Amino acid sequence: MRSVLLVQGRSSCSPRIGGSAAAAIHDTRTAEIRQKEVSAAAGRDHDGVDRRCPTAGNPTKIHRTGRARSRRNLAGPGVPGADPRGGGKPPGGWHTGRMPELPEVEALSGFLAERLTGREVARVYPVSVQVLKTYDPPLTGLEGRTVTGVGRHGKFLDIVADDGTHLVVHLARAGWLRWKDKLPDEPPRPGKGPLALRLRLAEPRGAGFDLTEAGTHKRLAVYCVRDPAEVPGIARLGPDPLDQAFTLDVFAGLLAGERRQIKGVLRDQSVIAGIGNAYSDEVLHAARMSPFKIAASLDEGEVSALYEALRETLRDAVRRSRGLVAGELKAEKKSGLRVHGRTGQPCPVCGDTVREVSYHDSSLQYCPTCQTGGRPLADRRLSRLLK
Ligand SMILES: [Zn+2]
Repeated sequence: MRSVLLVQGRSSCSPRIGGSAAAAIHDTRTAEIRQKEVSAAAGRDHDGVDRRCPTAGNPTKIHRTGRARSRRNLAGPGVPGADPRGGGKPPGGWHTGRMPELPEVEALSGFLAERLTGREVARVYPVSVQVLKTYDPPLTGLEGRTVTGVGRHGKFLDIVADDGTHLVVHLARAGWLRWKDKLPDEPPRPGKGPLALRLRLAEPRGAGFDLTEAGTHKRLAVYCVRDPAEVPGIARLGPDPLDQAFTLDVFAGLLAGERRQIKGVLRDQSVIAGIGNAYSDEVLHAARMSPFKIAASLDEGEVSALYEALRETLRDAVRRSRGLVAGELKAEKKSGLRVHGRTGQPCPVCGDTVREVSYHDSSLQYCPTCQTGGRPLADRRLSRLLK
């Protein structure tokens, strides 16, 4: 029954691998292993790490990555990314169901730095009971404090107050931030709606933002901490790919001895911070590389090409996102993608049809001509159905 439902879902909503499916059948077992690997990586970065025990991370990786990065990239007024445009108009069609990744969070931090820095926080309302993951220091401690900067750690947003307290936000897959020049006067009522947290400034009166989360899976996470490294998901972040220190040698070192597929490695937050399902697809397409390639098997030229693709893809996305108001960021992300989320559409580089491989909670997209020598990749679900 479940298989039948899958077939129906497929045929009705997304063009499939089709005639070449037979070629994929022989690879079912490998595909299953691959599926587990990629899914494991997906599980690690899909949620805001709130469901994990703080000590559950891999200690060797925490040591390797260290805490130093947690203070990078704090933006203030006048930073690139601060732009006088826009006042937070209600976003139209902003919810794409895709998690904001490094470029969107980078742009969002610039957007907020411009509006929050130097301003006093009047009230913070944790409207949803699940959203706040810490209790000490209390959220109310932020009230009356002045914001001194806004930064980013991987996909985490970091709002810093003048007493050293950090309000850290992980938007997760369906979360978003809506800036309002005029919030309602009355305090928000807890309920089942999308509103998760509201922050109101003292001046300009009524200005502030709402954190919202669509859907029933509430994964948006907020942490009030004295040091961002107290957030488990930040403590175990790998290096930031836009950091000056992220050199080709550093990248090669991360891939050496890595037996997983490159797709899963790129989106593993403990290896590299900030890249998720969308930009890993985009980076691999730009590098003309199969997502199933084993990381350790890449030769020097391939590592170098992947490094260049990664830096350029992210920089380009950040450039396009900067200066947009918060409500426009998700739409911009979607419009800038070349293969991710574009199954069935023509590849903008070669015109071949973009294909996908599905997993239980996500899918990847790629171009066969650009990335796999024209051969479709095995899709585990499809292979199983045709057995
Ligand atoms: Zn192509």
